[in-house]
Amino acid sequence: MYKAFLIKYAEIGIKGNNRYIFEDALRDRIKKSLRDLGDYMVTKEQGRIYIECPDGYDYEETVKALQCVFGIAQICPVMIADTIEWEPLKKAVGDYVEARYADRNFTFKMEAKRGDKNYPMTSPQICSEMGAYLLHRFPEMKVDVHNPSVRIMVEVRSRSYVYSEVIPGPGGMPVGTNGKALLLLSGGIDSPVAGYMVAKRGVAIDAVYFHAPPYTSERAKQKVVDLAELISKYTGSIRLHVVNFTDIQLYIYEKCPHEELTIIMRRYMMRIAEKIAKETGCLGLVTGESIGQVASQTLHSLASTNEVCTMPVYRPLIAFDKQDIVDIAERINTYETSILPYEDCCTIFVARHPVTKPSLKVIRYSEKCLEEKIDDMVETAMETKETIFVP
Ligand code: ATP
Ligand code: MG
Repeated sequence: MYKAFLIKYAEIGIKGNNRYIFEDALRDRIKKSLRDLGDYMVTKEQGRIYIECPDGYDYEETVKALQCVFGIAQICPVMIADTIEWEPLKKAVGDYVEARYADRNFTFKMEAKRGDKNYPMTSPQICSEMGAYLLHRFPEMKVDVHNPSVRIMVEVRSRSYVYSEVIPGPGGMPVGTNGKALLLLSGGIDSPVAGYMVAKRGVAIDAVYFHAPPYTSERAKQKVVDLAELISKYTGSIRLHVVNFTDIQLYIYEKCPHEELTIIMRRYMMRIAEKIAKETGCLGLVTGESIGQVASQTLHSLASTNEVCTMPVYRPLIAFDKQDIVDIAERINTYETSILPYEDCCTIFVARHPVTKPSLKVIRYSEKCLEEKIDDMVETAMETKETIFVP
C-alpha cells in the first residue's frame, strides 16, 4: 500500500554547518543501495530524506536494502497526500487509517509537524482536530496520549506525509563521511565484523589480505573475496589488495625462532599494510584483534605488533567476547562463510608453543636476522600485489 518512505537520521543531525555533507552522503548511499532494485527517486527536504518508489517495487527487498545503509535511524513507510488543504488532508488521513488497519480497535495518538510556520493551524490544532475527525469516522478507535498502540504522524510541508509505522534502521553514519581505513581482512570470523563496525561510524573501507600460496589455497583467497562482498553491502565498494606473503613467511621461518614466528609475521603484515594504506589514502589500519583471544593477542603481543606502526590501528573488537563477535557475524551474514574450513596463512606456520609474552627487545633482536633480504622482499610483495575491486 505504500509508494514512498520517509527516512529519519539521528546523529548526523547534530553536525552543525557540515550537516549538508552528511545529508548528501546519506542520500547518495541510499541511491546506491537501491540502484539494482529499480528507479527510485530520493530527495532531501528539511532534515528528512524521502524515497519515492517505482510502480511494482518490492517492499521487503527495499526495506532490507535500506537496513544496510548506515546513517538511517528510522525507515517510515509513508503515504504522500498531494495537498496541504485541511479538508482533503483530513480525508486522506482517514483513508490511510482505513486502508492500513482493517481492525481499528486500538488506542492512538495524533502527532503533527508543520514545515511552514505560516500554515493556518498550529501543530496542536492539527492534532486535536484530526483526532476528533478520526474518532468521528472510526468510533472504535480511542485516544491514549500516554501509551498509544499506534502513533499517527502527519507532516505538512509542500505536500503532506502520513505515517504510523517505524522500522529501525542500522544507525551509524553514512560511509565515506569519516575518511577511509585499511582493513586487514583474513578469512576468520573477526575481521569482517571489525570492518563492518568501523564502516558503521562512517569510515570507507579498503582491505588487504595476505595470501601464502601454495600453503594457502585459491579457495582460501576466494573466501576472503566472498567476505569482502558480504560486508560491502554495508561498507560500499571495497578495493581488496591481495599480497603474496609466501616468501616473507618462509624467510622468517628459516631465520627466526619458531615460537616468535607469529609475532614477527604479524609485524610484517602491519608494516606492509601501513605502506599500502599510505599509498592509497587510508588514514588508519583496522584489525579484528581482541584481547587474549589467541597467543598473538595478549597485551604483550599486541604491544609488539603495534610497535611497527606509525598510523593509528583501530581494533573495534578489542574488548568483545568471542560469542558477541559471533552474534554480530551471524546478524550481518558473514558467519557461515567465515567458518568454512580453508586454512589462512597464520594457521599453517603456527608454532606449537608460540610466545605469549614477547619482549620487544627479543623480537627486535630476532628480526635482525632478516636484515639481508627482508626489505627487498617487502618491496617485491608491494610490487606484485593484486587489487580486486569488490563493487
Ligand atoms: P580473524 O577471525 O579476523 O581471522 P583471528 O582470531 O584468526 O582473527 P589472528 O589470526 O591472530 O586472529 O589475526 C588477528 C587479526 O590480524 C585479524 O583479525 C586480521 O585483522 C589480521 N589478519 C590475520 N591474518 C591475516 C591475513 N592472512 N590477511 C590479512 N589480515 C590478517
Ligand atoms: Mg585469522
